[in-house]
Amino acid sequence: MKDPLQFDRDHIWHPYTSMVDPLPVYPVASADGVRIRLADGRELIDGMSSWWCAIHGYNHPALNAAARAQLNDAAHVMFGGLTHGPAIELARALIELTPRGLQHVFFCDSGSVAVEVAIKMAIQYWGAVGQPEKHRLATIRGGYHGDTFGAMSVCDPVTGMHERFSRVLPVHLFADRPRTRPGEDLHPDDVAGIRRLLEEHHRDVAAVILEPVVQGAGGMWFYSPEYLQHLKRLCQRFDVLLVFDEIATGFGRTGKLFALEHAGVEPDILCLGKALTGGYLSLAATLTSSRVAHGLSADGGVLMHGPTFMANPLACTLAKRSIEVLFESDWQERIAAIETQLADELARYADHPAVQDVRVLGAIGVVQTKAPVDVAATQRVFVDAGVWIRPFNDLIYLMPPYVIDRDDLGHLTRAVGHGLDTLR
Ligand SMILES: *Cc1c(COP(=O)(O)O)cnc(C)c1O
Repeated sequence: MKDPLQFDRDHIWHPYTSMVDPLPVYPVASADGVRIRLADGRELIDGMSSWWCAIHGYNHPALNAAARAQLNDAAHVMFGGLTHGPAIELARALIELTPRGLQHVFFCDSGSVAVEVAIKMAIQYWGAVGQPEKHRLATIRGGYHGDTFGAMSVCDPVTGMHERFSRVLPVHLFADRPRTRPGEDLHPDDVAGIRRLLEEHHRDVAAVILEPVVQGAGGMWFYSPEYLQHLKRLCQRFDVLLVFDEIATGFGRTGKLFALEHAGVEPDILCLGKALTGGYLSLAATLTSSRVAHGLSADGGVLMHGPTFMANPLACTLAKRSIEVLFESDWQERIAAIETQLADELARYADHPAVQDVRVLGAIGVVQTKAPVDVAATQRVFVDAGVWIRPFNDLIYLMPPYVIDRDDLGHLTRAVGHGLDTLR
């Protein structure tokens, strides 16, 4: 029998890797709190929250207990023709926590699918209300919305794999991303681009879709919430729906429960995912207004989506409990403390010869390097330093679980320095 690591290497794909020449992977034995324990016994302080998800840390007693209790009731039942308490209670909580107009919830199994559903909602809406020509999407460059085809078509055209799939991807409309950072005065050119685009194309455009305030995997860029206020007015003026993708930013990461709260702007459609279950299971949700939900059935039609694991009871239970755990904690103070410490400690690297830019918002700290980082080599430096930080392209970034303490966060920020020193 092959050694397990060799089997993994020969037979299992990891994200964005080659089967011919895969990047190395580190076997994990267990994870607890903010520590990931490797099979060889080494412990790593987690700086990634497993890609935005594990906001309460790993192996959380309250979430474990909720999962066990739900297992005794039902791990899963189909959602066609059946319903259950976990879905109803979670939908109630999400409607309560999100802006007032968002009253209808579609549960699905991943963020990408939540984006597909949002796109379908927007296109079906305009079709049903007699404007089927409104079928295109507009967005800003530098976005990331997932890896399925609809989602991919609104990802950044350069970093988002458009070239490889250009023959099959729908062609949508892109404006430059706003360059004004949070807290700065809005640069007038920022709004001019999207205004021109909507002026020219609004007859064809169903919706503008974007990540509010923080663009995640498309480049970890933070921009002024004021931009969203202008965008909302433009969407109203040109009769275009507004879709916020808060799959990465939802549930506190930016310091507010949802990033849209920085702007006080209400979208027509909102996508949630990632931290929704506290990092336990894959679950996502697309919320929308009554205008869209009722409008899309104005012609007697139905929303054309229904995944097998829709509203999985185990995942819904965990999501409900995760939201409770968040509110039982002093999450706002914790995230504010993480933000202050990240800002203080990462600022040291602003003048480092390998560094292009340092930026911090909420519990997200980003160090952008001048040249792309060698992922395998840098990863090894981080593992040797006892931390789990996964760089990509020219970005070394931290988004730790909210429960991290000062010492552990200090380890993470110092390790970023070790990583940078190897890039000189
Ligand atoms: C991760 C992410 C997605 C895709 O979610 P998956 O669960 O990976 O399909 C979509 N939008 C944003 C903003 C994301 O960060």
